[in-house]
Amino acid sequence: MTRRKKIYEGKAKILYEGPEPGTLIQYFKDDATAFNAQKKAVLEGKGVLNNRISEYIMTRLNGIGVQNHFIKRLNLREQLIKEVEIIPLEVVCRNIAAGSLSQRLGLPEGQQLPRSIIEFYYKNDALNDPMVTEEHITAFNWASTQEIDDMLAMTLRVNDFLCGMFGAVGITLVDFKCEYGRVWEGDFSRVLLADEISPDSCRLWDSATNEKLDKDRFRRDLGNVIESYTEVARRLGIMKEMPTVIQGGVH
Ligand code: UDP
Repeated sequence: MTRRKKIYEGKAKILYEGPEPGTLIQYFKDDATAFNAQKKAVLEGKGVLNNRISEYIMTRLNGIGVQNHFIKRLNLREQLIKEVEIIPLEVVCRNIAAGSLSQRLGLPEGQQLPRSIIEFYYKNDALNDPMVTEEHITAFNWASTQEIDDMLAMTLRVNDFLCGMFGAVGITLVDFKCEYGRVWEGDFSRVLLADEISPDSCRLWDSATNEKLDKDRFRRDLGNVIESYTEVARRLGIMKEMPTVIQGGVH
């Protein structure tokens, strides 16, 4: 058994060198952080749930032609992914006002937006991920205009698909964040959806009660974080193969 080379360690995931060139292993940790890592905790079982939920979503998105980095799940906490050159942007899509949008524009949380709104944030912890416009993105060469168009189109497709998928199981998709990367084929590159889509990166409200089933339970100290993520997995029908969740821990 050779020791795997760690490529990158983030707040919730670790990337290791993959078995083939052009692949990586994405490991989901139990660590939870919020407010740019000022708030931290270990939530036992979160990594297992996010690995499984993100696998499910990426697989379904692949099925409708949204190309992404997911290749296959390897075990409880790891998935094999395509290596991409990460575009340093967080692409946020919103259907209902919440979080930073509510604060910035004084909109009550829960207010339906007139249409889906996409925002870009520059991925930079030292600067607290500031919101940026297409002007900044092209001027600083973070992405080309073609890549911005691709990200906008893909994010709207992801949004439409996820709204339907979650809506069918009684969950409202309030907003979500996605990240993109490029893969090179000779002199040409393609944009792929990367990172993860999970209750860590989405706002998911129970459609009947508006109960939060996402990371806001951790951010706002609402409790039952793991129970809520487990409920999302259960409703998506992916609990059958899930290990038993006992009192907040996945065993
Ligand atoms: N989000 C994320 N990572 C971030 C910032 C935001 O996954 O670093 C997600 C967040 O979970 C929510 C959406 O993006 O689903 C919009 O977040 P918002 O801008 O409202 O910021 P927040 O209130 O989370 O600070």
